[in-house]
Amino acid sequence: MTAPLKDFSKLSIHTITTKPWALEEAVRNYSAAGVKGITVWRQALEGRDVKASGQMIRDHGLTITALCRGGFFPSTTPEGRALAIDENRRCIAEAAALGAPMVVLVCGAIPGLSLFESRKQITDGLAVLAPHAAAAGVKLAIEPLHPMYADDRSAVNTIGQARAICNELKSPAVGIAVDVYHVWWDDRLEQEIAACGREKTLFGFHICDWRTPTTDLLNDRGLMGEGCIPIRQIRGWVEQAGFTGFNEVEIFSHRHWAGDQHEFLQSIQHAYLDRS
Ligand code: ZN
Repeated sequence: MTAPLKDFSKLSIHTITTKPWALEEAVRNYSAAGVKGITVWRQALEGRDVKASGQMIRDHGLTITALCRGGFFPSTTPEGRALAIDENRRCIAEAAALGAPMVVLVCGAIPGLSLFESRKQITDGLAVLAPHAAAAGVKLAIEPLHPMYADDRSAVNTIGQARAICNELKSPAVGIAVDVYHVWWDDRLEQEIAACGREKTLFGFHICDWRTPTTDLLNDRGLMGEGCIPIRQIRGWVEQAGFTGFNEVEIFSHRHWAGDQHEFLQSIQHAYLDRS
């Protein structure tokens, strides 16, 4: 049985988790609470000098774990696909300026476009971007999304599908972010995580919980322990696969955003030690 986490040295929080806080507030409050990592969502950088924001974060003793998010490659037109590549180039440049080691990708899907064709376009887009990312010193992490999002958010719904793309591209810049919310149901999860470890593509690990009933497909994620995901067991598999990075708490929740964010941060830290 995987041992509980003893401290916050590997705790990272996504800025979207405490969405009511501006970037500066989140950084100040995470740092004061002893949190060591932060994943920055692009909207948190709006209207700010990206390079200076990166410095401000490091000055508070926080490690930037990733920039969220790029992707959305598929389109029904060549122009649309080219626009997506351009946007991802901007995202990579932003990550480099911020000092983020990777960009997390929600790969995209288009209603009416087959999942097979979407995955082909995702692979083609990544093939163009991988050398660009490598030159910028930024990695690209494909995040498989739960199949409930296969219509319009991502045609990559399992770690197996993400691995197939990685194995086709064979670029050290392209790997996978495993988010328990999206993959906990997969009967091959343990073996797939182990395979990512062997293939050196396990770039990121995101935690939260699955509530029953889930009342909103996007914004009703639970705090660790509020749902049915065996988070600690999955963390054990991830660690066995050789992953030594941060455990990133990523919770979109109207319920939690409506409350006091200082109390929510405390709850996150308790749940991190007790239920992750
Ligand atoms: Zn995630």
